[in-house]
Amino acid sequence: MLIAGERREASSGRSFELTNPATGEVIARVPLGDADDLRAAVEAVTAAAPGWGETLARDRGKVLARAATLIRARTDRLAEQLTREQGKPLREAVDEVRGAANVFEYYAGLASSFSDSGVRLGGGLEAEVRHEPIGVTGAIIPWNMPALLFAWKAVPALLCGNAQIVKPASTAPLTPLALAECLHEAGLPAGVLNVVTGPGEIVGEALVTDPAVRKVSFTGSSATGKRVMALAADRVARITLELGGSDPMIVCADADLDSAVAGAVAGRYYNCGQVCTAVKRLFVQETIADEFVRRLTASVSRLRVGNGLEAGTTMGPLNTIAARDRIGGLVDRVREKDEGTVEVGGTVPGAPGSAGAYYAPTVVTDVAPESALMTEEVFGPVLPVVRFSNLDEAIRLANDSRFGLGASIWTRNPETIREAPRRLQAGIVWVNLHLKVPPEVPFGGVKESGLGRENGVQALEAWSEEKTVLVRL
Ligand code: NAD
Repeated sequence: MLIAGERREASSGRSFELTNPATGEVIARVPLGDADDLRAAVEAVTAAAPGWGETLARDRGKVLARAATLIRARTDRLAEQLTREQGKPLREAVDEVRGAANVFEYYAGLASSFSDSGVRLGGGLEAEVRHEPIGVTGAIIPWNMPALLFAWKAVPALLCGNAQIVKPASTAPLTPLALAECLHEAGLPAGVLNVVTGPGEIVGEALVTDPAVRKVSFTGSSATGKRVMALAADRVARITLELGGSDPMIVCADADLDSAVAGAVAGRYYNCGQVCTAVKRLFVQETIADEFVRRLTASVSRLRVGNGLEAGTTMGPLNTIAARDRIGGLVDRVREKDEGTVEVGGTVPGAPGSAGAYYAPTVVTDVAPESALMTEEVFGPVLPVVRFSNLDEAIRLANDSRFGLGASIWTRNPETIREAPRRLQAGIVWVNLHLKVPPEVPFGGVKESGLGRENGVQALEAWSEEKTVLVRL
């Protein structure tokens, strides 16, 4: 962990093993933090917050820009570490580290435009809307995109003059720690950003319930998000929740089939299917369904599953053996209950008992609406495919979910391109693409996918207190 600018062991002296999901090898021992460590971080961050809040936004932006330069210079090293702890192919790890650097650069560029605004009211009254730091804040991040999600939270929070404690996931803590060190090397004062490792139920809950922490931004599952929301309610702490998704992808008969197939494969199997906005339910118009499924299964069969550090690997393992077994169990139940047809995959590749958390990329067609593949968030490489007859039916099926993170529609019809985004219940709608989330635009979900938005200039409001000052002249 990193407290007051220094790497520390847990105060209890305890640690836990971090394993490489591709091999099962232990790659590090990580401090097993507890409520005492969180308290030490709260003391450090409380001492550092006022000074950082007083610095000019321009100077905070310079720290972010210097950190971005360090991250870019270390991309290869950071990406390799990310692959070792998380499992994704090296190419995807490089993409993620570069994506994080983009976030640093984007917000560094906004530093000079971040200002208060005046409102003329007439009658001798003048108003000013000030953006003040919230103060001590928290960020809880998952393991699937640990570099990018660290950046989405810490970077705009710091630019707005806040100090922060980050609680990374226990299966991917090294990358957030390395990025925090880049910030310190770039000139961030000690104590402004701290990283406390340890179990979510202990360190995460201590962070959410600490009276000094005025805002928490949480990314993770909807179940944990609800718990965070309940804990924060007690003292009306501000929260942003970026939760699970079950994104639909709708392929209309007039779509460019080659790009739709490529979009479905990237959308579902990138990061071994462990992306909040992955394509988790695919709806294809019945007149093209046979041809689409033929091309889709051919393309999925060509994915090369293996250790992300090996050249040629296009899909790595899941993040843990438990996650692999959960995914395998879902597909086994589809077979047992006759809830769909497994077209490709549906197996654990390699020798039984193999140490890597691999699962074959899987396509299941004609999936029953009550199947868990349709009703739950499936966080792994399994794509359920369902046929529809017309656009109304496709939108009804797509919206029939408690989640509402992203949704995509693939079509060349101008009227559908105009109409479908309005009717789809999601925080982000893509037309003829899926997955892409640039830092310049707000991101977040509707329904059980979350509360509030990250990214874009909107994140600057989310990380500030707006104070209205009324003056009689
Ligand atoms: P998770 O909810 O199990 O854990 C997320 C983080 O919360 C971890 O750091 C964990 O240690 C911590 N945590 C666990 N219990 C806690 C508690 N009681 N109090 C406070 N913190 C606690 O999620 P995960 O399995 O790590 O991540 C996968 C989930 O994240 C998926 O549902 C995915 O869709 C979602 N996700 C959402 C987005 C988004 O932007 N909407 C992005 C990435 C991932």
